[in-house]
Amino acid sequence: MFDNLRKGLSELISGLKYKKLTKEEFEEVFSDIELLLLQNDVSLEVVERIKESLEKNVMGREFKRFSNPSKIVLDALREAVIEILDTAGSLDLIKYIKERSSRPFKIVFLGVNGVGKTTTIAKIAWRLKKNGFSVVLACSDTFRAGAIEQIKEWGDRLGVRVITQQYGADPAAVAYDAIVHAESRGIDAVLVDTAGRQHTNINLMDELRKIVEVAEPDLRILVLDSLTGQDAYRQALEFNEKVGVDGVIFTKVDGDAKGGSILTVAYALRKPILYLGVGQGLDDLVPFDKNIVIKNIFH
Ligand code: GDP
Repeated sequence: MFDNLRKGLSELISGLKYKKLTKEEFEEVFSDIELLLLQNDVSLEVVERIKESLEKNVMGREFKRFSNPSKIVLDALREAVIEILDTAGSLDLIKYIKERSSRPFKIVFLGVNGVGKTTTIAKIAWRLKKNGFSVVLACSDTFRAGAIEQIKEWGDRLGVRVITQQYGADPAAVAYDAIVHAESRGIDAVLVDTAGRQHTNINLMDELRKIVEVAEPDLRILVLDSLTGQDAYRQALEFNEKVGVDGVIFTKVDGDAKGGSILTVAYALRKPILYLGVGQGLDDLVPFDKNIVIKNIFH
């Protein structure tokens, strides 16, 4: 992403040997950076935040004949990105569950249809099983045709029980059933899949809030598709405001993800990103690593 910028910066700042950047010169340098960030799905708000940080970092510096000014600016840019990702914090799910006494440990998964929510739940169930936890899945999407069959298929593959009711049933009741089932059998974790028809649908948000009220989850995890850019950002704001979000998982980072939406969501929610989905298989889930995002942005 920054290859052309690097060249442009060198040319621009090579005329500035032995002196500091003026405000106008900085604005000129930053307009290229701004364009690239926006093209990479970074929100305007985050761009402004990065600009402030860069201005502080770069403006006072002297550029000498043999120094590499584009490197200085890009290093400062990288620092600003790292700072944003770091303030979102981190959460190691397996360690977190081990350290907590609440059993069953309850996770409600949120996200719009198609982002990869059900696949991600299966991946998490698989990871929990590998770490010695017993798991039950709850299909609280009683709306979308095929949702129950899809999660049952995963349950069969994983050897994990799936609690369902018929289509049209109360999703909160399904979550409740699954929790009661886990309590009575000493099962360690309940993973609740929820509906994701249009995130702007008020009925859906009410339904999700009710599930959360009834299930009292230890974590509300929002699943976002890293390929959807500004949409992922809008979804993050909406779910966080209407239902509440404790952590985020980004899917499809194996695709052509630009990294900007991950940076933007980390900045907007200040909630940890737990994992990145990197494929369709059960093992294609890696703990969040900011270097993957940085690589995507600075490639
Ligand atoms: P849901 O509607 O949110 O439950 O989405 P699904 O779990 O049905 O996933 C939608 C599609 O995205 C499926 O084809 C999944 O295999 C695919 N998918 C999910 N996660 C990933 C990922 O991390 N990488 C890739 N390449 N595909 C994914």
